[in-house]
Amino acid sequence: MAKVTFNEDLCKGCGLCIDFCPKKCLGFAEHFNAKGYKPAEMKKQEDCIACAFCARMCPDVVIEVYK
Ligand code: SF4
Ligand code: SF4
Repeated sequence: MAKVTFNEDLCKGCGLCIDFCPKKCLGFAEHFNAKGYKPAEMKKQEDCIACAFCARMCPDVVIEVYK
């Protein structure tokens, strides 16, 4: 199964990964990270197809995708 990890304290909450996920798996967390942003997180793990678009879109290299 696909696994998507977030180095969440690097996230600036831009939402690019959320917008570009073709399966709409991602969303913003309710909590704030060390930078004061609500970081992106996995919301629907079961729908993730490990395409890694999210990781490629992220300008801050927050995301890694494992198959
Ligand atoms: S790997 Fe693909 S399907 Fe999974 S969260 Fe990232 S963009 Fe969405
Ligand atoms: S693209 Fe990167 S910096 Fe932007 S919300 Fe997603 S994980 Fe955070």
